Amino acid sequence: MKSSSFLLYSILSAAVVPYAAFVVGGVTPGGRYLRTITAAVSTGTGTDDLLRPSYAIEKIPLRIGHGFDIHRMAPLAEAGQPVVIGGVVIDHLPQKWTDAEGRYVEKGGVYETELGVVAHSDGDVIYHSIVDAIFGALTLPDIGQVFQDTDPRWKGCDSSKFMEHAHTVMADYGYKVGNIDVTLILERPKVASFKPAMKKNIVNLLQTTPGRVNIKARTHERVDSVGELRSLSCHVVMTLELDT
Ligand SMILES: [Zn+2]
Repeated sequence: MKSSSFLLYSILSAAVVPYAAFVVGGVTPGGRYLRTITAAVSTGTGTDDLLRPSYAIEKIPLRIGHGFDIHRMAPLAEAGQPVVIGGVVIDHLPQKWTDAEGRYVEKGGVYETELGVVAHSDGDVIYHSIVDAIFGALTLPDIGQVFQDTDPRWKGCDSSKFMEHAHTVMADYGYKVGNIDVTLILERPKVASFKPAMKKNIVNLLQTTPGRVNIKARTHERVDSVGELRSLSCHVVMTLELDT
């Protein structure tokens, strides 16, 4: 079904049977999620309808989700914002960046510059991957559909807001973090010293414990856009555990 048809179907379903779509495993979830949806519908944004499919999301003990994200990196002045990963601003010295388009030096040449991330939001690849993994585990639409850039609540916002919202949705469906395994892939800047702060942010935002969150970081062996410092990417695998 096309997403526009799905959206229309969701809106009609919600209008005809306003509470049927909230039923999860025979239990009607309440809490902040329900209030969030009510508020969103009343303001006419409607994007939260995507978070309440017409079918039941069964309360199986364990759900697994995967998330992937990639963002372009460019000289800081061009990107207009710093590299932010896991909620941490990655301060760094100028790096040898490959100028694939020849904007600063000859095409394919190396330009030494501090880097920034090119993105509509803050371009946080870890947070975006985790949010997609949570939604994926719950069979919900992807981050781009849920946090549409036309929705004034999300325009240009800090990605920690996406994490908080994803946590609320997860909790209201009756789940908590099982464990999270992050694989961050970027050539430079080096991020090893920032990993503890990233982990702390994830633990706090998802209200979990350090023993359930792992962050690995690796390079891309200097090949392709990630290896040439023109992008950074991230994979996340996580489990959601039924919160009994
Ligand atoms: Zn992203």
